Amino acid sequence: LSPVPSDIEISRGQTPKAVDVLAKEIGLLADEIEIYGKSKAKVRLSLLERLKDQTDGKYVLVAGITPTPLGEGKSTVTIGLVQALTAHLNVNSFACLRQPSQGPTFGVKGGAAGGGYAQVIPMEEFNLHLTGDIHAITAANNLLAAAIDTRIFHESTQTDKALYNRLVPLVNGVRKFSEIQLSRLKKLGIHKTDPTALTEEEVRKFTRLNIDPSTITWQRVLDTNDRFLRKITIGQGSTEKGYSRQAQFDIAVASEIMAVLALTDSLADMKERLGRMVVASDKDGQPVTAEDLGVTGALTVLMKDAIKPNLMQTLEGTPVFVHAGPFANIAHGNSSVLADKIALKLVGEEGFVVTEAGFGADIGMEKFFNIKCRASGLVPNVVVLVATVRALKMHGGGPSVTAGVPLKKEYTEENIQLVADGCCNLQKQIQIAQLFGVPVVVALNVFKTDTRAEIDLVCELAKRAGAFDAVPCYHWSAGGKGSVDLARAVREAANKRSRFRFLYDVQLPIVAKIRVIAQTVYGAKDIELSPEAQAKIDRYTQQMSTMPGLPTRPCFYDIDLDTETEQVKGLF
Ligand code: ADP
Repeated sequence: LSPVPSDIEISRGQTPKAVDVLAKEIGLLADEIEIYGKSKAKVRLSLLERLKDQTDGKYVLVAGITPTPLGEGKSTVTIGLVQALTAHLNVNSFACLRQPSQGPTFGVKGGAAGGGYAQVIPMEEFNLHLTGDIHAITAANNLLAAAIDTRIFHESTQTDKALYNRLVPLVNGVRKFSEIQLSRLKKLGIHKTDPTALTEEEVRKFTRLNIDPSTITWQRVLDTNDRFLRKITIGQGSTEKGYSRQAQFDIAVASEIMAVLALTDSLADMKERLGRMVVASDKDGQPVTAEDLGVTGALTVLMKDAIKPNLMQTLEGTPVFVHAGPFANIAHGNSSVLADKIALKLVGEEGFVVTEAGFGADIGMEKFFNIKCRASGLVPNVVVLVATVRALKMHGGGPSVTAGVPLKKEYTEENIQLVADGCCNLQKQIQIAQLFGVPVVVALNVFKTDTRAEIDLVCELAKRAGAFDAVPCYHWSAGGKGSVDLARAVREAANKRSRFRFLYDVQLPIVAKIRVIAQTVYGAKDIELSPEAQAKIDRYTQQMSTMPGLPTRPCFYDIDLDTETEQVKGLF
């Protein structure tokens, strides 16, 4: 329709097909999905085993030039591209997107389901609770936070013997170590299996984590922008006997558990990653982990459903995975490895999986390659770099762009000079993608105020800067058929051999890695570290070389997940 109706009107104007019908269309078996309502389903990881011999499809990353605060359309381009591939060119494709946090949804930026005629539907379900993954992360994160303060409290108020007796309880009259405790003893160099045989010194070593409260890095989280929780004091009740400290809440998607969810590739791997999370240092400067606190199994139980990708659909009925959403400024800013891996199997050798990296390419794409692709082992075939005339004009010196404020005339009228001047940002982002050896197709997301001369100029300058191709896209106003040229260009670029490489060796010291990124991606001459940054790097470097020991015990000690059978153990 013209003019294009609002996003919510478009979303509501289309009835999504039942998710079991969609699942069948893309080759999922009935027992491989768990349906949530009418239009969402979780996909079981057993699928990866069934399709392990299937060759992967082509892997496409959508990244963007440095955006204005309004967003330049990475999500809409991603969705428009899969709609074009599947609904118009008859090529299997999957979009893999991040789940939005309720922080931005109710805050400044709004939802993230795309827009115009390139959306995931129903957009309310996409933007709000989805299937509860962020709630699961919140629960797991806060259980660990509670475990830390509880442990410090108990260690400060109980004798070694009393603590020991609580941590190693009597089972049918006999004191017995759990498996996790035996493993901790071993790491402490205590090779005893009989709880009555420990010396006093060994009991002390075993029971006391000696967490230094000033080093706690693990915060409580909530998926609401609630500024009044930025700094809080905990432990003010009289029952906490004066054990009180300054703490803070973070937004839930900033939890390290979100980053773990995004990078993991199996239940067993997730459990290991959760156990390794460092939450503080002890009084000797050694790292204290979730495993030391005995909470790994319980965290895995809370996350056992969140690990399964969520299946939804675009406005044109093509499949989408929505899974994980770490922020790019504090984590790696990309959706899950598991969703990409499953989608690459489902689309088959000739198909395409299109995923999206947060922020501008210098952050989101760099982390996609150096962190996510390193974790997954997947090799990307093409980068689609999204640009808008609006953002290029801003980079060319146009007035600032603010959400909620009408755009100035520089943006609503033709201004070739500003576009030309701003293309340096586009050129630099193309060069960054080329550092990784991946061909770039520039997608110019066209707005109704863009003129032919402006569009032609951007495409021309993009090609001159080394892009494989550069095409205007009209998915926002025309849906998939508005992105058919982009889909063709991407298909062609994917036929080129990918010469993908990382920017740094993962074994390099932290400072060397920072230097490589600063110099090659951001064009810095060198880096200089503040004393605070240097101190943190020194601590992490020292902790990296010592792999810490294991746990102690409240009820969560006995709770675990058998990652083979997916059975919860010890819950009752
Ligand atoms: P990003 O993923 O880069 O943050 P989005 O795809 O979410 O950007 O788009 C940001 C906003 O801009 C959305 O509200 C979307 O509907 C709108 N938008 C995107 N492309 C266009 C376009 N070509 N014309 C008008 N509005 C657009």
